[in-house]
Amino acid sequence: KKLGWALVGLGTLSKNQLAPALQKTKHSRLAAIVTGTPAKAKEWQEKYSIPDTHVYNYETFDKIAENPDVDVIFVVLPNSMHEEFVIRGAKAGKHVFCEKPMANTADECRRMIAAMKEAGKQLGIGYRCQFEPHHRECMRLAREKVFGPLKFIEAGFGFQIGDPTQWRLRKDLAGGGALMDVGVYALQACRYLTGEEPVEITAQETKTDPVKFAEVDETISWSMKFPSGVIASVMTTYAFNGANFFTAICEGGRFGMDPAYSYGGLKGWTSKPEVKIEFPAIDHFEAEMDAFSQAILEGKRFEPAGEEGLKDLLAVEAIYRSIKEGKAVKVETV
Ligand code: NAD
Repeated sequence: KKLGWALVGLGTLSKNQLAPALQKTKHSRLAAIVTGTPAKAKEWQEKYSIPDTHVYNYETFDKIAENPDVDVIFVVLPNSMHEEFVIRGAKAGKHVFCEKPMANTADECRRMIAAMKEAGKQLGIGYRCQFEPHHRECMRLAREKVFGPLKFIEAGFGFQIGDPTQWRLRKDLAGGGALMDVGVYALQACRYLTGEEPVEITAQETKTDPVKFAEVDETISWSMKFPSGVIASVMTTYAFNGANFFTAICEGGRFGMDPAYSYGGLKGWTSKPEVKIEFPAIDHFEAEMDAFSQAILEGKRFEPAGEEGLKDLLAVEAIYRSIKEGKAVKVETV
C-alpha cells in the first residue's frame, strides 16, 4: 500500500526534489497539493494528474481532514510557517512531515510536538542525511569506536546566497540566516556522530555585508562541548561557497565526508586505506519519505521525530545567545 502525501508549499524543494522523488517511492505517492498560487496548481494538476478535489490553498487547507486519500501532510513552507501548518495538520487528524529547520524557536517546536501528541499522529522532520548511507556509516564508525574514541569534530556548511529579496534573508520568515538554513546540517552531524547533546557553546558572528544581512546572520563559527569530552568546531555562512564537510578525529585515526550535505556526489574518506566509506548514490528525499510511510504502515515510531528538531533549536538558541552575551553559555535541555 502507498500512503497519500499532500505537499504544502510548491516552491523549489517541492518542485525539483519532492514531487520527482514521489514518482519513485514504493510506499508513498503524491495525492494532493496546497498552494497559494492558482497558476502553479494548474501546472501541477496537469503534470501529476491531480483532481480539483485534491487541490487546496492556505485558507481551504483544513478541509483536507475530509480527504481520505491524504495520509501525510508535508510542510515545505518558509520556516516561520511550519508551526501553523503542522498544528493545522494535527487538527486535521493527519500524520505530518516537516522540513528543517523545524521552526524558528524551541517553544514553537514544543507546541508542535504537543499538538501532534494530542492528535495521536506521527511527526517526522526532514533530516535527509540521517537516511544516507555515507552518513550512517560515519555514525557507526564513531559510535562503535572503529578508530578509537572520538575526540574532536570539525564541521561546516555554507554557500554564497544570491537574490537579496528572498525570504531566507528576512528574520520574520526565516528565523535567522545561514545557521537556521544550512548551519543545522553541520550541527546535526556533530550530534549524530557523538550521539550526545552539546552542553556548552561559545559562538561568534562575522558580518561583511550589513545591508544584505541587516536582519539575519551571515557567518557564524562556534565551538560545542559534549558530555563525553568531545569538542566540535563548526561554521556556517551565506557569504562564500566551499564549506560542505565534517572531519571526525579519533584517538586511532580520522574519517569524514567532503562534500557531506549536497543532494548527490557525496564522498567519505578515512585515514586508513583498509577502511573505506563508499556507497552508491541514493535519493535522500525518496528514502526519508518512504521511511516515514513505512513506519506509519508498520505502526512503528519514526525517527527523527519532533524532539530531534527541538534539540537542534535548543543548540541554535544557545549559539545566538552566546553571540549576544559574548561568552560561553549552557544549552537548555528538552
Ligand atoms: P522556496 O522559497 O523555493 O519555496 C517556498 C514556498 O512557500 C513557495 O512556494 C512560496 O510561494 C510559499 N510561500 C507561502 N507563503 C510565503 C511567504 N510569506 N513568503 C515566501 N514564500 C511563501 O523555499 P524552499 O527552498 O522550497 O524551502 C522551503 C522549506 O524547505 C524551508 O523550510 C527550507 O529550509 C526547507 N528546505 C529543505 C531542504 C532539504 O534539503 N531538506 C532543501 C531546501 C529547502
